[in-house]
Amino acid sequence: MAALMTPGTGAPPAPGDFSGEGSQGLPDPSPEPKQLPELIRMKRDGGRLSEADIRGFVAAVVNGSAQGAQIGAMLMAIRLRGMDLEETSVLTQALAQSGQQLEWPEAWRQQLVDKHSTGGVGDKVSLVLAPALAACGCKVPMISGRGLGHTGGTLDKLESIPGFNVIQSPEQGMSDQMQVLLDQAGCCIVGQSEQLVPADGILYAARDVTATVDSLPLITASILSKKLVEGLSALVVDVKFGGAAVFPNQEQARELAKTLVGVGASLGLRVAAALTAMDKPLGRCVGHALEVEEALLCMDGAGPPDLRDLVTTLGGALLWLSGHAGTQAQGAARVAAALDDGSALGRFERMLAAQGVDPGLARALCSGSPAERRQLLPRAREQEELLAPADGTVELVRALPLALVLHELGAGRSRAGEPLRLGVGAELLVDVGQRLRRTPWLRVHRDGPALSGPQSRALQEALVLSDRAPFAAPSPFAELVLPPQQ
Ligand code: URA
Repeated sequence: MAALMTPGTGAPPAPGDFSGEGSQGLPDPSPEPKQLPELIRMKRDGGRLSEADIRGFVAAVVNGSAQGAQIGAMLMAIRLRGMDLEETSVLTQALAQSGQQLEWPEAWRQQLVDKHSTGGVGDKVSLVLAPALAACGCKVPMISGRGLGHTGGTLDKLESIPGFNVIQSPEQGMSDQMQVLLDQAGCCIVGQSEQLVPADGILYAARDVTATVDSLPLITASILSKKLVEGLSALVVDVKFGGAAVFPNQEQARELAKTLVGVGASLGLRVAAALTAMDKPLGRCVGHALEVEEALLCMDGAGPPDLRDLVTTLGGALLWLSGHAGTQAQGAARVAAALDDGSALGRFERMLAAQGVDPGLARALCSGSPAERRQLLPRAREQEELLAPADGTVELVRALPLALVLHELGAGRSRAGEPLRLGVGAELLVDVGQRLRRTPWLRVHRDGPALSGPQSRALQEALVLSDRAPFAAPSPFAELVLPPQQ
């Protein structure tokens, strides 16, 4: 894809160059802004939207003149007809420009990095990676999302920690507030808000309830708009593929990865995309508070190998891409050291305290034993264990049925804004590749009555056993798509 140029300079726009005015140069002969029904019709019929059309739609979303039905119709038209790379770039910029651009001290320019995921089950990588990168000398101003579809959201997980505040106060400038957090901890994790990429907030919630999550341009614009306002030096996106990913097929996921990297490059943002498998849950825990516990374990230098592997791989790529490490492997070793020497955990504790958690609680969570930590986080009322139906080797634990049952038990939302049951979740008691007898393989944490027949059956079918000899579980990491100059 040809890089988009800033007029008159011959150079690609700098990250966060929001001077706007026709900078993407898509021809639009009509000076009259089109009405939404016409824009929807154009996209519905497979047409291409101009820069003015896309900006007009985003403006209507933000100023409230677009009706919910019109937003849903446009999202569905985009989902069905797609957008080319230039339309996607314009949409990304328009979403980013719907709120404030974050500004940082000049000295931070090379330090600013971030990671984002397309969404998975049990994916608590951000909770670990943000503080680990901070411990490696980076600044990580992470703008994260809530659960989407069956996938969990980083913000929801963090909110299971009493007092944790993902939205900063609207009266003060976001840059100033986030700068204080970054000064204190080196990382922060906040939500988009009326100040930060508000258009994405509205579209993200609408996609969740209109079956338009799995759209390549919508995912790209949603992710990159949040990252564009951060003024980053480098970004790594974890693009999941497999049975519980938005795109089950690796080819489609690779397409998304290339779009993210290409659109990022066109907007002056250095993006690498890692393709990683999402057939089984990442780690052994799924559910908000349980995932926080597991993230803490990873920051103790322990925890499940697949989680640690992904954290160090993604972190290594970012340290390399941003010039903090000579190779990806050296970067990965630095991240691993930050997990093992307690420095990532120290940064996490500082981040919690900076974002509203009582410092005593933050200390106790970060220094306590796993059993002590469990007392400090929301817990479900009951636990129920499921027995393996036969002896065998664990080939797979399917993440999707597990996530869907947990969603029903209150771990996910059916309507935007619905409260979540933060203690609900499940712990895998087995690893992929392990030999298993007819012993318990899953512990479900629930608030409501015993699992129904269909729920138990769905969970039992999630366990795939074979007669093979035991084997080492493979790493979820498959490949890395790099920006052109890398
Ligand atoms: N994360 C986002 O921020 N947006 C998406 O569409 C998917 C994952």
